[in-house]
Amino acid sequence: MTLDRNWLKRFRCNLRRWYEAHARDLPWRRSSDAYHVWLSEIMLQQTTVTAVVPYFERFIARFPTVDDLAAASEEDVLLFWEGLGYYSRARNIHKTAQTLVARYNSRLPEEVDKLEQLPGIGRYTAGAIASIAFEARAPIVEANTLRLYSRLLGYRGDPRSREGQTLLWDFAGRILPRKRSGQFNQALMELGSRVCTPSEPDCPHCPVRSCCTALAENAQHSIPLPKSRPKVTYTTEASIAVRKNGAYLLRRCGSDERWSGMWDFPRFRLDELAPPTTQKHAANNGHRLKAMAKKTRCRLEESVLAATGVETSVNALVTEIEHSVTRYRIRLLCYGAVHTAGSLQPNRELSWVSPDEFRNLPLSVTGRKFADLLVGSSSELFE
Ligand code: SF4
Repeated sequence: MTLDRNWLKRFRCNLRRWYEAHARDLPWRRSSDAYHVWLSEIMLQQTTVTAVVPYFERFIARFPTVDDLAAASEEDVLLFWEGLGYYSRARNIHKTAQTLVARYNSRLPEEVDKLEQLPGIGRYTAGAIASIAFEARAPIVEANTLRLYSRLLGYRGDPRSREGQTLLWDFAGRILPRKRSGQFNQALMELGSRVCTPSEPDCPHCPVRSCCTALAENAQHSIPLPKSRPKVTYTTEASIAVRKNGAYLLRRCGSDERWSGMWDFPRFRLDELAPPTTQKHAANNGHRLKAMAKKTRCRLEESVLAATGVETSVNALVTEIEHSVTRYRIRLLCYGAVHTAGSLQPNRELSWVSPDEFRNLPLSVTGRKFADLLVGSSSELFE
């Protein structure tokens, strides 16, 4: 496809006009503050605008400046990120804030190459920050623009391959105007997310339809090539709420674990154990684990002892939660147990936490669901 002057002029002009009329009023667009641009770009990775808005507003209210973020504990940052997922993003922004304070006078650098050296900032995010916050002529390719560019070009190859990436980044650089490139990049992303959508592109109302090869070839539904999906893995795990004097045992997840830095009830893989023969959501009526295989119960109690140092009696299935993390589909059986003997092992991040304190700790997504269920629950459930 040749990008002649007329094509470029028509494309830029139609896109700008459409964006000026249709741009959403989003909290991070109300200024070009680099800190806001950076946070919003990180939060929007793998996450919808609707989900991000309330998180962004709460986060900015709690950490109004780079210095505030750098001075906070990682636990506090994770607490304000809880529920947004992909928690390495939160840990990275915390590390980056500390780097900005130490090396850049609490400011984000303006150059793409310097931005790319910061934790959690890749080529796309660096281009977005540089163009939106600093008006640098920096191109972008992310999920929405990858789809949009592929269709505009009528590119039938794999846009995620080396060849596809080279083509799309080159295209992104060529269509970018010299002035107001930040607004132009935002317009491209907005068009990709709201008009040139994955399964139902609204071609009749698209402002750049006269520039689109895929539409001309009636190929908008087959371009781009779909992403190959990783094989789904099914697994069963157990989460144990051990109760002692009205408080529950929580542990902080290690750096090599899912939900690193967050708190959770002691949790174990159950795949290799005999499955309990209990019913889903049985606990609210005081269901006991009479039918629970003795072997399973013993293994759970042994596992808690080995991981924490306390002896327990695992007594009730409180609930069952199904959830997904990346390629894993997890069936989580949540048990109630009582402490019977022993003290917490030293040098482990373990703590007895009262239900009133659950809100002050960042919990794993399933940990929060389980904790909410336990607040105000009867102690009989555990006996
Ligand atoms: Fe996407 Fe259709 Fe617009 Fe082409 S015409 S860019 S396929 S919405």
